[in-house]
Amino acid sequence: MVNIFEFNLDELKKWMKDTGEKPFRANQVFDWLYKGVYDFDEMKNISKSTIAKLKENFSVFLPKIVKKYTSKDGYTIKYLLSLEDGNIIEAVIMKYHFGNSICISTQIGCRMGCKFCASTIDGIVRNLASYEMLGEVITIQNDIDERISNIVLMGSGEPLDNYDNVLKFISAVTSEYTLNIGERHITLSTCGIVPKIYELADNNLQITLAISLHAYEDDRRKSIMPIANKYSIKEIIDACNYYIQKTNRRITFEYALIRNTNDSIQDAIGLGELLGGMLCHVNIIPINEIKENNYKKSNNKEIELFIKKLNSYNIEATIRREMGKDIEAACGQLRRSYIELN
Ligand code: SAH
Repeated sequence: MVNIFEFNLDELKKWMKDTGEKPFRANQVFDWLYKGVYDFDEMKNISKSTIAKLKENFSVFLPKIVKKYTSKDGYTIKYLLSLEDGNIIEAVIMKYHFGNSICISTQIGCRMGCKFCASTIDGIVRNLASYEMLGEVITIQNDIDERISNIVLMGSGEPLDNYDNVLKFISAVTSEYTLNIGERHITLSTCGIVPKIYELADNNLQITLAISLHAYEDDRRKSIMPIANKYSIKEIIDACNYYIQKTNRRITFEYALIRNTNDSIQDAIGLGELLGGMLCHVNIIPINEIKENNYKKSNNKEIELFIKKLNSYNIEATIRREMGKDIEAACGQLRRSYIELN
């Protein structure tokens, strides 16, 4: 059985045609699905025999909400979702003045091994399929009963390590027959898998590329991110310049400030010299302290000085609002604590 959300409209049209049905039946099925009707029997304008065929070939499973945690201010909701095979993943909704933004997982676990991250501690279980990522968005949009307008691929997993499924997912959510989310409202965050950044650039999508840089020079980066042993910062910057040249999109560099590790004025100067003049923006993230390691947040004064220094290089730097800290919204934390307890 194929999950119907794995098919795009053209694929379903082709399937209809190949099974002796009229291709426009696919449009009707899509209309129902994206109106929230997930039971083929309730698709009123479709004949009994076609429904029988659909039921034989397709499942309509969507992730189920296992647990839901709402922050005190009500602006962040973290979800634990279960998949058909019983695996648990997490996704977060952040309500901003400009709309609802969802942070989704792209893999179950992660194999990148970043030292400060909870998602990677037990390695990877498997990639998520496109229909499962789409399912995260649909299930949560139904739950909040409001439109989701922005997607960030910043949950558990490395999106460029699951490249084909992630690209299929982006093409699925941006379709006018599904959720119709604009490419410019999607951000893909990567630890920097260089060849895939070039591939992505050649796809000419208008999505925002975010790079988890976290250090301005290779040795420092290697000490917190194993992927730095494979690709140098110079190779990442070259790939980013290629992405900018191809897409004309501004790059976001994420920089998690960790006390006594990458938060000195020398670090800010190094970062300023590295990125000055580039079409980019730096997103400073005060590290989320997790119980599995000893990394500590920089204090507010240090953060302020760091940003000031960057600004002196004409680099726009913003500090990420710490939303949902009271509900363990850092990457992979919640899934881990849930699995530990159950
Ligand atoms: N694998 C991708 C996307 C998932 S991680 C990537 O590396 O970009 C999303 C972001 O959260 C990354 O910038 C990651 O480095 C950061 N992150 C992970 N654990 C964190 C923590 N404990 N505190 C702050 N940021 C964290």
